[in-house]
Amino acid sequence: MSEEIFYKTAAELSDLLSEKKLTSVQITQAVINRTKAVDNQVHAFLSFDEKDALEQASASDARREKGEPLSDLDGIPIALKDVISHKGQPLSASSKMLKDYISPYDATSTRKLKEAGAVVWGRLNLDEFAMGSSTENSAFDQTCNPWNLECVPGGSSGGSAAAVAAGESPLTLGSDTGGSIRQPASLCGVVGMKPTYGMVSRYGLAAFASSLDQIGPFARTVEDAAMLLQTVSGHDPLDSTSVQVEVPNYRKELREKKGPWKLGIAKEYFAEGLDSEVKESVMKAVDFYKSMGCEIVNVSLPHTDLAVPVYYIIATAEASSNLSRYDGIRYSSRAKESEDGVDLYFKTRGEFFGPEVKRRIILGTYVLSSGYYDAYYLKAQKVRTLIRQDFLNAFEKVDAIITPTAPKPAFKSGEKSKDPISMYLSDIFTISTNLAGLPAISLPCGFSNTGLPIGLQLIGQAYQESNLLSIAHAFEQGHDYWKKTPILESFN
Ligand code: GLN
Repeated sequence: MSEEIFYKTAAELSDLLSEKKLTSVQITQAVINRTKAVDNQVHAFLSFDEKDALEQASASDARREKGEPLSDLDGIPIALKDVISHKGQPLSASSKMLKDYISPYDATSTRKLKEAGAVVWGRLNLDEFAMGSSTENSAFDQTCNPWNLECVPGGSSGGSAAAVAAGESPLTLGSDTGGSIRQPASLCGVVGMKPTYGMVSRYGLAAFASSLDQIGPFARTVEDAAMLLQTVSGHDPLDSTSVQVEVPNYRKELREKKGPWKLGIAKEYFAEGLDSEVKESVMKAVDFYKSMGCEIVNVSLPHTDLAVPVYYIIATAEASSNLSRYDGIRYSSRAKESEDGVDLYFKTRGEFFGPEVKRRIILGTYVLSSGYYDAYYLKAQKVRTLIRQDFLNAFEKVDAIITPTAPKPAFKSGEKSKDPISMYLSDIFTISTNLAGLPAISLPCGFSNTGLPIGLQLIGQAYQESNLLSIAHAFEQGHDYWKKTPILESFN
């Protein structure tokens, strides 16, 4: 399979472009053709603009012809989750509220990709406003897991994960508020990384919960994720929470750093409810690290079981505030008939928000309301500090912590959609790192008996993306899970 252009890694494609063995137009056309052939099964894309993508590709080829490529990613196609602004292209956040909205400007990540010469194309499906874990909350389409079309791809960045797994784009961007990059990466058998809070600008990202949201890469390999992360990272004066730190050369460092590392395992992440095949694959990964000379240390993260409840207070509180801007006046959708201004708000929000988004807004408004603020929101913020402190304590002893990414492999569509709590629990291993602001990566570490991918999560210290990528790369070098691709019938 991987002789196919559309299953080559970004690093391979970059080399082939430098050696003049392929052009960006050929690569871009190959992924577009692949998308046309399989996306009627996978449904990763909400839309794409073929003409615009091919124009960007021709411009890249012209630069290369003159010997002036802009970066390693010049000419490589990268598709975006439909919450990241791309000037002149739609941005719906998979919500009827933004059905006809066209971005008037580029997100900082999009701008950086364009400056690197990448072919920025396509709008990828997600749970409405990134609220969900299965992409079933999209108002427009249901993305399927390329490994088993009856299963969900995870969420909320399900389209971003499924597109990479199905060979529809070598690289994609997603966003992660409580696990929305890592959990779908795990369920679709690809690499996904949430950077440290503040590493990647949120300017131009449709906000869900601003103290938790981060944009991050999806790729088939750790090296590819490193290249993409490097391109989009860095200080941005347009995002006041963006940090002033040097962005290292992740790709170079991942080849140089060979360990051994001190790695932590926490019993709280191997508790009841963890699928036995997932546990076995993760423990095998631990053994692999041991065999390469890493020291494995037991660490304790005692407030782990409070992460889900704390998250659903803080994230919903922030969402209720962020989503108040969708009032029927400033953005795309507006209720047709209303009596006055207030009625217009009610009707517009009633008609165009989906049920999960409404649930979150109601919950968030409740926990912020006077009389409940101290009992819920303030308390949750205090517990958030304790969760962060747990990690700081653990990182006095270890370089990174190994956990499963998700408690189970991909579940069937419809299995959890009627039961919000069981859906919320699919993020039990990913949410704490958002609350603590730490970087974490998910990479493939095995398959279930039924052929579904299993993901390994590595959590690192703030701003230590480079270490995390090196540790993940070392595992990937010793295994070939990433080389396996799902079997999809092509209808072309
Ligand atoms: N699944 C979690 C939620 O529903 C996380 C979503 C995300 O990271 N955007 O909120």
